[in-house]
Amino acid sequence: MPPDFLNRIQSQFPSNFVQFVTSIDQPAAVSLRVNSQKFAIPEVSECVPWCETGIFLNERPSFTLDPIFHSGAYYVQEASSMFVEQAFRQIEHEKGRVVLDLCAAPGGKSTHLLSLVDPGDLLVSNEVIRSRVSVLDENLRKWGHQNVVVTSNDPSDFSELEGLFDVILVDAPCSGEGLFRRDASAIQQWSVENTNLCATRQRRILADIWPSLKKGGHLIYSTCTFNPEENEENLKWLAENNAIESIRIPLQGNWNVDEIETNGLFGYRFLPHKVKGEGFFLTLIRKNEGAESHPVSRKAKTKLEKMPKQFAEIRNWLTSSISEFFVKSEFIIAFPENHISTLNALSEQLRIISFGLPVAQFKKNDLLPEHTFALSIDRNPVVFESVELDLKTALLFQKKEEIRINSTAKGWLLVQFQGVPLGFVKNLGNRANNYFPKEWRIRMALPEIPQPWYK
Ligand code: SAM
Repeated sequence: MPPDFLNRIQSQFPSNFVQFVTSIDQPAAVSLRVNSQKFAIPEVSECVPWCETGIFLNERPSFTLDPIFHSGAYYVQEASSMFVEQAFRQIEHEKGRVVLDLCAAPGGKSTHLLSLVDPGDLLVSNEVIRSRVSVLDENLRKWGHQNVVVTSNDPSDFSELEGLFDVILVDAPCSGEGLFRRDASAIQQWSVENTNLCATRQRRILADIWPSLKKGGHLIYSTCTFNPEENEENLKWLAENNAIESIRIPLQGNWNVDEIETNGLFGYRFLPHKVKGEGFFLTLIRKNEGAESHPVSRKAKTKLEKMPKQFAEIRNWLTSSISEFFVKSEFIIAFPENHISTLNALSEQLRIISFGLPVAQFKKNDLLPEHTFALSIDRNPVVFESVELDLKTALLFQKKEEIRINSTAKGWLLVQFQGVPLGFVKNLGNRANNYFPKEWRIRMALPEIPQPWYK
């Protein structure tokens, strides 16, 4: 590790320096967060204490060889980051909130937020780096929620959306000191100059996004570094330049999370020798100034074309009563009705990558169910017949190979593994057409397939 880094850590944690350094050589814990709207949380020996759906596994299985991993039944995520849940639970519960995840790829915290918000809330999940947007979009689609908009913009593009957001999460790009155990390249890229650069960039991001947070709204700021300049000092800078209130997050003693308090400002730090997780910092603040709400545009957006009446039966495909249906190209998309004006306001300022839930593609008068609909938590289970596949056939389906279906029923069938939907086939009797999306298919050759980690 770089000597400058070690010197700083020694002065930061003098009495725990040896334990800190030793812990970085230890193997990282394996943890994941279950999408409990799709899959019951399996019994395991250890849960992540600050996250209701977080669990530890004793060893790292091959997630690629688990069909339900590709269906958004869980998200593999290191445990400390799941503390976002405790911050989010401190925030007052208002109806129809608009939540922004500003630095969202690959989607760990966005999928977590979707599990925490109400169906009537909207998540705007943004990633500025273009090459990282498709993985974010894919992970969100697999998670199966319709109350989400994916955008790809620089933080400065949000400044016109004054007072729009009730909650903003800034999981900032940082010097990544907390990732040293998992990612050797984080060590190589570390330098004092880079940590300073990161701190300056974080302040610019915070200043750019600040106007779009409404008065009384909440900002969750997090990093995966120990550097005080990027953490406590940025919080202090925010408090010196804006009217804010720092919100305290209740901790339990056995969590071993450090609460750092300076002049009434609270931050929460995860140290790798004290918690079963990686290095992490989080702070929660309330904004006490600025616009109280955004005058969202009420005018109908020409791009949003209402669904033609002949497809009205599709309303029955979803169990959710809050959806409105739109046509985009040849697709029918469901989106929460109460957030249409917000979507209009967003589309006037931002580059929208996707919104809502693509339910079906239409060809003349025919409706072809979309893969994202198969994975949706709002899918009405009575509309399409389901067929359970064995492990090998499920993986062959996700490799987009030809499979045989053990059913006399013909036409559209939903295939599933362990009760979790995987996608659609069209059963023709002697063979079945495989509708798994080509771009998401498993590319590796199938070796001997191990049993999944759950029973
Ligand atoms: N929140 C993500 C998750 O939980 O999966 C991880 C986010 S990662 C810590 C920080 C993200 O910020 C990266 O995806 C990176 O591409 C993005 N980023 C890089 N430069 C940025 C900038 N100037 N403004 C906003 N985001 C930026």
